[in-house]
Amino acid sequence: MLGALVLWVGASGCSRRVPEGTPAEQAVEDAPTVYVARRIRTLDAAKPEAQALAVRDGKVLAVGTREEVLAVAGATARVVELGDATVVPGLTDSHGHLAGLSQALASVRLEGTTSLEEVRQRLEKAPSTAHQGDWLVGQGWDQNDWATPRFPTLFDMGEHLKDTPVALWRIDGHALWLNGAALKRANITRDTKDPEGGTIVRLPEGDPSGVLIDNAMDLALKVLPPPTREQHEAHLRAALEHCARVGLTGVHDAGMDLRTFRLLQAWDKAGTLPLRVYAMADGQTDDRVQYLKDGPFQGKLLTMRAVKLLLDGALGSRGAALGAAYSDEPGHRGLLLLSPEEYAARVHAFVGRGFQVATHAIGDRANTLVLDTVLRELAATGTKDARPRVEHAQIMTAEDISRLGANGFVASVQPTHATSDMPWAQKRVGPDRIQGAYAWQKLKAAGAVLALGSDFPVERPDVLAGLYAARTRQDASGQPPGGWQPDQRLSGEEALEAFTAGAAYASFAEGQRGRLKPGMDADFVALSVDPVDAPPADLLTGQVRLTVVAGREVFRADAK
Ligand SMILES: [Zn+2]
Repeated sequence: MLGALVLWVGASGCSRRVPEGTPAEQAVEDAPTVYVARRIRTLDAAKPEAQALAVRDGKVLAVGTREEVLAVAGATARVVELGDATVVPGLTDSHGHLAGLSQALASVRLEGTTSLEEVRQRLEKAPSTAHQGDWLVGQGWDQNDWATPRFPTLFDMGEHLKDTPVALWRIDGHALWLNGAALKRANITRDTKDPEGGTIVRLPEGDPSGVLIDNAMDLALKVLPPPTREQHEAHLRAALEHCARVGLTGVHDAGMDLRTFRLLQAWDKAGTLPLRVYAMADGQTDDRVQYLKDGPFQGKLLTMRAVKLLLDGALGSRGAALGAAYSDEPGHRGLLLLSPEEYAARVHAFVGRGFQVATHAIGDRANTLVLDTVLRELAATGTKDARPRVEHAQIMTAEDISRLGANGFVASVQPTHATSDMPWAQKRVGPDRIQGAYAWQKLKAAGAVLALGSDFPVERPDVLAGLYAARTRQDASGQPPGGWQPDQRLSGEEALEAFTAGAAYASFAEGQRGRLKPGMDADFVALSVDPVDAPPADLLTGQVRLTVVAGREVFRADAK
């Protein structure tokens, strides 16, 4: 044994963050650390598999057999034995919402409720972190999971809350359910008109039902007291730690508010940001004015060089903009959240300022509009290597799939959306349009680079669950047999590539990250399970043993 200091990272069930003053941080500054594992999947075609990896100054120094790497690292190297773990390049969630995750972790969690009664019970046991001012906030309800799958109303929330304003986000973040006290605070009455791109759901007599969809949510959000500075910091810190714990070395934040960005900038400067964050400016709100003024930003782990625009709603709430009517709601085509002119104006402004354009487009009509608008703008300005992103690219015509692939777009897709939506997606769009829905292999075949994510907090930021869904297109109980639209499944290599190298490409970082070879950033994860060749079901019980970002261990499961 050449190493002076040997650590074991074991597989105990409980886990913790690495506290300060562990050997990892006491290690001699410039002495390399060597990680030894059963298998290292480098995703480097020249040397796809290895057993050891040396790290120095945040970069990969050497990759190879144990002997080869120890020879390069020298006698002073610290050696970390990872036992039977599999090491993969840093896993990145290409589409998540850190502020949303912060809020979700702090608020009343309503995911998985099977009835309104269960919602009321969870509200009764609300944690103290779930208050903003005197409002109670929650998130995660989905009427499709309830015995009576209809939208709830203000009357469904429970008597004991009649004096407390309550705001509860639907799981997809595209609808907000208020009680009577909250409607009153927001001054929403039967006379309030639907804003453009939004709907105030109404009772048969015309009074507001309590549910606000898409742009109508702003009527309530503008009177909802924001979290205090202390709450914001504590919740955001908890969200980042959560991401490290589930094996993420990076997150692409799909539409960051300015307040969160400023806080992350301060943490990045102070060296306390644990993960890489590729932030997309929120192009939907007034924050965009400041972002345009400031232009792109490159910090140590924090990057801001993309803008996120939101063109339509979600399929679940029938807010996705379709070219023809919904198959299960005649005459209804969904909503465009920005007019084509306004969208074009924002694309123009951000492209001119050097930002990458990332557009949320779920329905086929929204996807066509993204392609038409972005291609026209890039051609007019002669912008090269723009790598425009379509976020979700969920329901697309065959022609648009070809255009997307042929024109260098990134398809930022979420495997767990497909497995969450598969029970009802075809009802919404019918048997023909479903052929271009969640069509990962078709997108790949057309030439698009896939970047995978979860859209947390809409889905859990659990990357192993994402890899499972990508490989199987089945739910956690293995349904349906063989997978939904199984020809669109990804292989283990393809899924891993899209969570690592694909994400790096989508953020212009393929030269620094996404593969493990000398000179690349030392971002990697040790897993108890091999994401490529283990039976997919093993991914659901797999554990993250170690998360390393720029050579720093930001999460480690308890040592044996
Ligand atoms: Zn999103």
